[in-house]
Amino acid sequence: ALPSSLYIATVEQAPIAISITNAKATILYVNAAFEQLTGYSRDDIIGQNESVLSNNATPPTVYQHLWQTIQNKQVWKGTLVNRTKQGGDYLAELTIAPVLNAQGAIDYFLGMHRDVTKEH
Ligand code: FAD
Repeated sequence: ALPSSLYIATVEQAPIAISITNAKATILYVNAAFEQLTGYSRDDIIGQNESVLSNNATPPTVYQHLWQTIQNKQVWKGTLVNRTKQGGDYLAELTIAPVLNAQGAIDYFLGMHRDVTKEH
């Protein structure tokens, strides 16, 4: 088996913004690429909801569909307009996956996103 420190280093250094949240989307962990893309340091954002990234212009139905999907233990993929700490908007290609515990219940979510502004 690989050492568990390798899993940590891999997530930490992955070239895509990664966050781990609790079941209510409160942020528990972000990797270095997340800090770089969003402009939020760990100290800024841990304990806050992922909604701090919202540009506040996305229709609520988009989020409703997102939550319906992930609470059904399925993977949601979509594109959202996010806002950095500095106030710049960017197009985020986002994947959210539930992380199930041994009983099959959702304890955590994994979020992965990248900036696709230049591709659109
Ligand atoms: P709200 O008014 O709070 O929510 C809008 C609608 O979403 C509600 O009417 C409700 O139907 C649904 N909803 C919100 N919270 C819940 C909940 N806890 N349970 C069930 N339904 C709910 N959002 C982004 O804008 N950008 C991101 O990059 C992003 N990444 C995320 C990553 C992860 C891992 C997760 C779990 C969520 C992420 N979200 C992201 C979604 C975020 O948590 C918010 O739900 C979203 O930003 C809307 O927040 P709001 O305060 O604007 O709207």
